[in-house]
Amino acid sequence: MSWNDLVAHLSEIEILDGVGATLGWDEQTYMPKKAAGLRGSQMALLSRLSHERRTDARIGRWLEALDDKDPVQRACARNLGRVYRREQRVPAALVDKLARARSEGFAAWIDAKAASDWQRFLPSLRTLRDLTLERVRAIDPKRHPYEVLLEEYDPGTTVESLRAMFARLRDGLVPLIDAIAKQKQLAAIDAVVPLEAQWKLSSAVAAALGFDFEGGRLDRAEHPFSTGQGEGDVRITAHLKPSDLLGGLGGTIHETGHALYEQGLPFSLAGTTVKEAASYGLHESQSRFWENYVGRSRPFAIFLARTAKDVLGSECPAALADPDAIFRAQNRVERSLIRTQADEVTYNLHVIVRFEIELAIFEGSLALEDVPAAWNEKYQSYLGVTPPDTARGALQDVHWSSGAFGYFPSYTLGNLYAASFGKTMETAIPSLWSDAEKGDFSRPLAWLREHVHARGHLLETPELVRDAVGERDHVEDLLGYLWTRVGSLYGVSR
Ligand SMILES: [Zn+2]
Repeated sequence: MSWNDLVAHLSEIEILDGVGATLGWDEQTYMPKKAAGLRGSQMALLSRLSHERRTDARIGRWLEALDDKDPVQRACARNLGRVYRREQRVPAALVDKLARARSEGFAAWIDAKAASDWQRFLPSLRTLRDLTLERVRAIDPKRHPYEVLLEEYDPGTTVESLRAMFARLRDGLVPLIDAIAKQKQLAAIDAVVPLEAQWKLSSAVAAALGFDFEGGRLDRAEHPFSTGQGEGDVRITAHLKPSDLLGGLGGTIHETGHALYEQGLPFSLAGTTVKEAASYGLHESQSRFWENYVGRSRPFAIFLARTAKDVLGSECPAALADPDAIFRAQNRVERSLIRTQADEVTYNLHVIVRFEIELAIFEGSLALEDVPAAWNEKYQSYLGVTPPDTARGALQDVHWSSGAFGYFPSYTLGNLYAASFGKTMETAIPSLWSDAEKGDFSRPLAWLREHVHARGHLLETPELVRDAVGERDHVEDLLGYLWTRVGSLYGVSR
């Protein structure tokens, strides 16, 4: 029975990876400083054990014996086949060279960013680009190189569909941002709230959204992240700052969205590859749906003001007790230089700049030495700002230093899918917003459980999304929602 053997084998890999996730979580939360060396050896052994199992020669035979008529086995053939072929076709020597180039690249990037000097990063980046191209050609010399890269994060998405969607999104966002920039700026909330009180509020909001505290944890860490170790264990972290309650809370809601996906996966299908999330873009759609579509809405602001008063008591600043003040502060739009600090409206332009540059690099139409100039030109033309130095320009993100080309689009894909999920739910759940005002989010969560979470990786993302929302125009859904919600706050219309 090769199917049962394969499932047992893959289940072991999942268990090893889950152990690694727990150790990784511990490293960023509670691990004593002196344990760093020990943890390094533990992680190295785990990843070797996992790698040995992933490259087991029997997998090829098991793959051939899968039953095409069974939907789970068919999905497994596709998911596992893709990963296995990639492992098989890339020579071990190239894997080693890439691993070395990544760690050297990271060190060079740290140094170059501190000095704001692209030239210092250029040799490492060139090596990473060349090795990546070599790897792409080994995997599939006939496909568009960028699509082979994209497949690692968002299998099923094509370069052509991205090119078309992102160009329309860019052309729709630029006039919205221009119109907003001419209006009076909305007020922020910068009241100082003690961290203990913020902590209570973050936990209360995560619980209200449906995070299962008996099947997960919420802890503090330097960086907010979420990690799923398996059934009954999904952990998220929050990073809170005294004068930025909404920012810290937004981060917690974002990670809660990721965690709700992980808590809703079809665990009965462990060891089949179908228990996994379908793509980075779909994962990001779950965090963005809760963080933005729900978390920046007016009904949510009403719920939040009430919860803040309840939880913070006398420590609750006046602005946080006022739904309108929260709603305005949550939807401020500002032309800015740094992607990770960007608001919801300008954010996608930051991503589109990176996508266009990566695409040009891998299509051979942009030389690496010309990246900072291309970057600045695009920032000026889409966002109306020019970075004063490369540290705040082309050197700001860590991604390229580890050769993670093709990763950025998943952020914007997530926003596009989230908008279509939201639009669909507004029709499917007539009480969506009146429930939200009351702090009841069970219906949208149930909708996502049914249409996204429980389906795991049975279908590729574009197909799964089509099943969930029908033939929708994601770009129009996102633009329409931003013009309506944010545009009306600023008094501009399409
Ligand atoms: Zn995320």
